[in-house]
Amino acid sequence: MERYSRQLLALGIDVQERIMESKVAVVGCGALGSSLAELLGRLGVGEITIIDADIVEMSNLHRTHLFTEKDLMRPKAIVCKEKIEEINSEVKINAVLDIVDQTNALDIVKGKDIVFDALDSVNYRLILNDACVANKVPLIYAGISGEYGTVKLIVPGKTSCLSCFMTPGEGSNSCEIIGTTSIVPTVMASLQVQLYLNYLRREVQDEMILFDFRTMNMEKVKINMNPNCEACALHEYIYIKENISQSCGISRISNETLSEDSSSEIKISKTQDGLTICYGSKCFKKRV
Ligand SMILES: [Zn+2]
Repeated sequence: MERYSRQLLALGIDVQERIMESKVAVVGCGALGSSLAELLGRLGVGEITIIDADIVEMSNLHRTHLFTEKDLMRPKAIVCKEKIEEINSEVKINAVLDIVDQTNALDIVKGKDIVFDALDSVNYRLILNDACVANKVPLIYAGISGEYGTVKLIVPGKTSCLSCFMTPGEGSNSCEIIGTTSIVPTVMASLQVQLYLNYLRREVQDEMILFDFRTMNMEKVKINMNPNCEACALHEYIYIKENISQSCGISRISNETLSEDSSSEIKISKTQDGLTICYGSKCFKKRV
């Protein structure tokens, strides 16, 4: 416990024990996800599963703290796993080279104590929300737009969910390909982890926290459960049943089963509008 002596003074032994017993998933390992994974690893979370099919590119390096130039073209999830193992070898880390979509969302969420949303696509986010609400697994959302960020804790049965107020995007609106700095995702990831600590202290507020980095204004907005929500009210889970079109970001080409640490045989090839990334027989299309 020497490693945690300073945070024990702030959190207490009960919360530290709950952290060390936690099995969490970090969905997405970009700027938000890598910051989340580092913070959770340093906190001493028992088991962290990091899911991302993407590779590290030069345009990531200005905002993703765990990645260096040596990591270019390597799978983000593997790089995160290796770096966090160096930081805290007591934490079990699973790297899953995959996206989370209709085919695997329920399986990825199952058995987790909490899930962190570090995605950059509204449509994939709604699939993840459906899977969390259906499995009654808490979800901590963060969204980033330029120098503006939002964060929210979703506890199925107790709070509103993302589907209560979000709708799927079409075309370029389904991805958040917008500029940001290294500061915004780092702070938003920190706020997500603070919400996780508050949740472990049994403190649950149904509110969205909005942070404007330019003005340094923070606002809390109460979000009520939507009685017509197809996830938390009607339990129809339309996004894990329907095939929402994804016209940007990463999407699945082949449809193989989930594999862990399948780092062998990585093949990356350039296409007209982006990249094809294959891990063994599992392939993804990345549009840029
Ligand atoms: Zn809802």
